[in-house]
Amino acid sequence: MTRLGWKGLPQLIARAIRTSPSAFFLALLEATGNAISGLIPVFVAMVAGGVAAHTLGTTVAGGVCLVIVSSLPMSLMVVGTNSRILLMEKLQGYYNSEVARMLGSVPTLTLYEDPKVQDEVKQLADKSGSLGNTFNMTIVVLNQIVRPIVLTVSAIALHPLMVFAVLAALPTVALGLYTPKLDEKAEKASAQPGRLTAHLQEIACGVESSAELRVLGAQRWFFVRLADAARGWRRPFSRATSLQQALRFLASLFYSGVSLWVLWVLTVGARVGTVSVAVLAGAITVMLGIMEAFNGLPFAIQTFSEVLRETGRFVWVRRYLETENTRHAGTAVPPSRLGTGIALHHVSFSYPGASRRALEDINLNLPAGSVVAVVGENGSGKTTLASLLTGMYDPSDGEVTIDGTPLNMFDITAWRQRCSGAFQDYVRFELTAGKTVGIGGLPRIEDRKAIGLALEQGAAADVVAALSEGLDTQLGTAWGGQDLSGGQWQRLAIARGMMRPHPLLLVLDEPTSALDAFTEDVIFSRYIKAAGAARRDGAVTLLIMHRFSTVAAADLVVVLDAGRVAEVGSHRELIDRGGLYAGLYSLQADSYR
Ligand code: ADP
Repeated sequence: MTRLGWKGLPQLIARAIRTSPSAFFLALLEATGNAISGLIPVFVAMVAGGVAAHTLGTTVAGGVCLVIVSSLPMSLMVVGTNSRILLMEKLQGYYNSEVARMLGSVPTLTLYEDPKVQDEVKQLADKSGSLGNTFNMTIVVLNQIVRPIVLTVSAIALHPLMVFAVLAALPTVALGLYTPKLDEKAEKASAQPGRLTAHLQEIACGVESSAELRVLGAQRWFFVRLADAARGWRRPFSRATSLQQALRFLASLFYSGVSLWVLWVLTVGARVGTVSVAVLAGAITVMLGIMEAFNGLPFAIQTFSEVLRETGRFVWVRRYLETENTRHAGTAVPPSRLGTGIALHHVSFSYPGASRRALEDINLNLPAGSVVAVVGENGSGKTTLASLLTGMYDPSDGEVTIDGTPLNMFDITAWRQRCSGAFQDYVRFELTAGKTVGIGGLPRIEDRKAIGLALEQGAAADVVAALSEGLDTQLGTAWGGQDLSGGQWQRLAIARGMMRPHPLLLVLDEPTSALDAFTEDVIFSRYIKAAGAARRDGAVTLLIMHRFSTVAAADLVVVLDAGRVAEVGSHRELIDRGGLYAGLYSLQADSYR
């Protein structure tokens, strides 16, 4: 995946330019300043050369350039920093909405099930803000690398021997990359003694153990162990620090030794006339600045690999989603009303990574205009079945057809627009009450009459009537609005499911879990009414429920057992058959007696 980081970088830069060309180019000024400051040794050499040769022109020109390259970077840095921060904020906004758009546009929920994909998606969603920061980080990296590069070129241009002074700085750079690993190792080694220290501290100083420790007379025993554990906890860190200091000392000793040797050779050269004073002065200036310039490189390298990781993840997820989208490239338009109905042909489904199939070889015919109740124990596959019908997942085997046409030939978004419903995991949209319901049928989100009707059908009119400003009441205390009970939120969610005017598939997946038995009864009788209206459009109403009283009113009952269809038929037929359904039904009837 990280290999894609190289593809992500040009995209990031292109996006930054498109977002604000002026801010992008101004952001580069900081790096330009840093590059210019790398030329200081060249102009020091020019001034020294001018003075040595008594040429006023060269001395003055060198001096002026020296003043410019010394002072200009500061002004460029101020402009550059402001621009990159400004652009970072703009890009953060872009990536936040782009990631939400990308994830929202994927037609199925499969990406939320595959643990590998989910990890990447989660990281991307959690860090979508930091994607904007990758641009900032890229510029910071650029700022850090241009000065050593220009300084190296200036140094070698001054005298080839200077290449040794540059090379002598590299162990310090390597050390900068290696020392974080020593810290990580120390952290790992100290994790276990750290936990032990915390545990012993809790026992030795905690209130809960204080009485028992005193009775046992074991305080001293614990204090000794606590001191031991604390030493064991800190030891890896102090060892790592000592090692780092020793290595740093050796690296700087190496640099000092090599640069002293280079200086010695140049000074001797200057004395015998093979090296000019200008070169000597420039070389000394390089030596003064080289370590400072190279010190930033390890940070730049680490930051750059982070940039590649983040941008690579973005490209990877985007590609994954594009592939998912092209797998659902059906264009057929759903019929205005169902003729024959919805059918499942040898449909099986496994969740990614699951060892067992959630549905196995399902063959079902859900006739147009029917109310179908799906029952079965928890985990028998009811919700999965509904998810396949709404196209949230693709069957692993077999196919779902709508009036005989495979579901994957339809434009999935258009099909979903003809599906409606209420689900166990409803969302608490903290909008005004009217919009919370109206969002179920977006074109009519402001249509108070339609919302009123949906509230009636969802048995939620009294929830809104009790609100201080009715449909205009803001919900959610975070926005200064009113909060609702779990049951009230759920009733608004049910009403939301009633907003679509002519659904072809109405799924009601145990939407009443947070409601009391009385309200549940009221709601279900409304459902049956709503189903009656939908029936005229040939719609299939799928009731997933654990309450058997309403099941009896369905045209067809499907009993699922461990992912398979155990029984299908009308309530009467299944009772007469005396199988699984009849057993479950009498069990529930008993519990109500
Ligand atoms: P029901 O609606 O009848 O309670 P589900 O359709 O939710 O059953 O689940 C059917 C089977 O699929 C169960 O074994 C369940 O553990 C499994 N399952 C459900 N959702 C997921 C998921 N998101 N990832 C993996 N397995 C799942």
